[in-house]
Amino acid sequence: MQDHYDVVIVGTGHAGAQAAISLRQKGYEGSVALLGDERVPPYERPPLSKEYLAGEKPFERILLRPENFWGERDIELLTGKRVVAVDAMDKSVTLSSDEAIGYDKLIWAAGGSPRMIDCPGSNARNLFAVRRRSDVDRITERLDKVENITVIGGGYIGLEAAAIFTKLGKSVTVVESRRRVLARVAGRGLSAFYEAEHRRQGVKIITEAMVNEIVTDDAGEAKAVALDNGDTIQTDMIICGIGIIAETGPLIAAGAIGGDGVDVDGRCRTSLPDIYAIGDCAAHANKYADGAHIRLESVQNANDQAKTAAADIMNEGIVYDEIPWFWSNQYDLKLQTVGLSLGYDTEIIRGDPETREFSVAYLRGGKLVALDCVNRVKDYVQGRKAILEGDELDQQELADPSIPIKEVSIA
Ligand SMILES: Cc1cc2nc3c(=O)[nH]c(=O)nc-3n(C[C@H](O)[C@H](O)[C@H](O)COP(=O)(O)OP(=O)(O)OC[C@H]3O[C@@H](n4cnc5c(N)ncnc54)[C@H](O)[C@@H]3O)c2cc1C
Repeated sequence: MQDHYDVVIVGTGHAGAQAAISLRQKGYEGSVALLGDERVPPYERPPLSKEYLAGEKPFERILLRPENFWGERDIELLTGKRVVAVDAMDKSVTLSSDEAIGYDKLIWAAGGSPRMIDCPGSNARNLFAVRRRSDVDRITERLDKVENITVIGGGYIGLEAAAIFTKLGKSVTVVESRRRVLARVAGRGLSAFYEAEHRRQGVKIITEAMVNEIVTDDAGEAKAVALDNGDTIQTDMIICGIGIIAETGPLIAAGAIGGDGVDVDGRCRTSLPDIYAIGDCAAHANKYADGAHIRLESVQNANDQAKTAAADIMNEGIVYDEIPWFWSNQYDLKLQTVGLSLGYDTEIIRGDPETREFSVAYLRGGKLVALDCVNRVKDYVQGRKAILEGDELDQQELADPSIPIKEVSIA
């Protein structure tokens, strides 16, 4: 480890890794350090609640690049290093080991930490998040001895984990505080479909219920989850999937402007000189959210913001305005989402959910702003184009799955 690099990237997740890759792809010749607190090389996070959790893919197959890639590109990969402070005047970061590293440009790509439930018993030894490889390894180590699993949170990660556990023969209960699963990210149609699907597969879904207490035994192991509706669920393991808290502490302490995430401009620059923020931890004005300042938690956003920051370091002056997209795999259902449904006023179901091939179109002021496509790749591809074109579409035709989206008339 040197005491100075031209570019220091904090975080070895999708965003940090892509920033280092993009710098080299663009011909950047300065020294680059890619450092993070996880003890393993950069890997894909989505399989943690999918194939990796299911034991279908070993860790080597979810690495973002082969291990020797980084050294071959002269990217110094520093794992097991946590940044605890940033000095924007001195242009240095301090590690938990007290060592300092100077930089010319700093890219903050520290992602987020799982938000954990806060109630009596929430420090139970068999309560886990699904955020890091180490979380999933701790879960799978115990799986053989586990029969009943409670998943707190009916978002994508909780539901994906529920699907895998069910496939593995576990008895799964999902507890969601809102009226429906996926309430934060999708419309009623999609929520209803996924709720029905999980129930059909044997998952118990309890909505509008809060966890009051986790009942533990003398060894500190959770044995039951007590809900505010009076129900008690016997459990051998708890998975907490209630979102993340953006990892911004050292940057905010250094004076960066931010709230839920570090604020960045269109080039991913923070309010501090020569410091960028990208990925899950960065809040930006998003064109597809009517300019609202938001954080996006997706691989697309992490990669595209990484490319934007690298381009800015290379003086290419690119502004980030990529259309958001996302995916989720549950059972044999491949969901692809494009656009942002924030503030939609009309929801149109395209096709019959019973056939397990349908899309949900979200419109604002007659214009298509987002699509959730379940096992309908064509809708996803054509819908993406329609969102970008921004025309008002004929809603009756849009509701007819036999009419390809690209042939839907302009209203
Ligand atoms: C289980 C799961 C499933 C997902 N599925 C999908 C999906 O299907 N599709 C999709 O698009 N997105 C999915 N996502 C979201 C996607 O993985 C994230 O949006 C993406 O990983 C964000 O990348 P990032 O680099 O910003 O942050 P992260 O991937 O969180 O990486 C940040 C890294 O920085 C490290 N770090 C944090 N603080 C410090 C510090 N102070 N010093 C040093 N290192 C630090 C962290 O340990 C971490 O390694 C999923 C996420 C999870 C957890």
